[in-house]
Amino acid sequence: MYKYFVNAIDIVNNIMKKRVVEGSTVVDATIGNGHDTNLLASLVGNEGKVYGFDIQEDAINSTRIKLEKNNLDNRVRLIKDSHEYIQKYINEKVDFIIFNLGYLPGGHHSITTKSDSTIKAVEKSLELLNNNGILLIVVYPGHSSGKIEKEKIDDYLKLLNQKEFTVLKFDFINQINHPPILYGIEKKSN
Ligand code: SAM
Repeated sequence: MYKYFVNAIDIVNNIMKKRVVEGSTVVDATIGNGHDTNLLASLVGNEGKVYGFDIQEDAINSTRIKLEKNNLDNRVRLIKDSHEYIQKYINEKVDFIIFNLGYLPGGHHSITTKSDSTIKAVEKSLELLNNNGILLIVVYPGHSSGKIEKEKIDDYLKLLNQKEFTVLKFDFINQINHPPILYGIEKKSN
């Protein structure tokens, strides 16, 4: 029997596979080890485009190697900069954006997303989103800066105008050890 509620990442993958289609323009705001970037690149097809951001050279390099191995590098632009500067690099509307926050698995835990730049990045990203576009955020409240980030994101998203956005929160409320939380924002068409 298929399970719908495995964890936040699994729900992200399911939404991605449904929402991102051939020809889509999408953003991976935190490429890390490149799993999401690779999946997105395979979904957008030859006519689509993926923009990927990370502040760490290691993340950019390991993602580039993965993409080249899978012959997907031609449709991806990897950008070594903070996602808060997204509008410096993207001058078009996008259909889907994923923020998988926190630190690089296997990397330095001190290099992690921070609430101030994350909120700025989400604000700028929402401006770039097409009508009916989706922005997903996975936040990890199990570590100290993730806990602050979760509170700030919660405060910020609660105030988004409901005429413009539908905002959802998937929180696994009967699990111990602070599992990741998924926020989903859909831009309404007016
Ligand atoms: N999506 C990734 C994957 O599929 O492997 C996992 C992402 S990892 C949890 C978070 C990443 O965010 C790290 O690689 C980290 O370097 C990056 N990061 C931290 N601050 C950032 C910022 N301001 N802008 C862009 N990326 C940032």
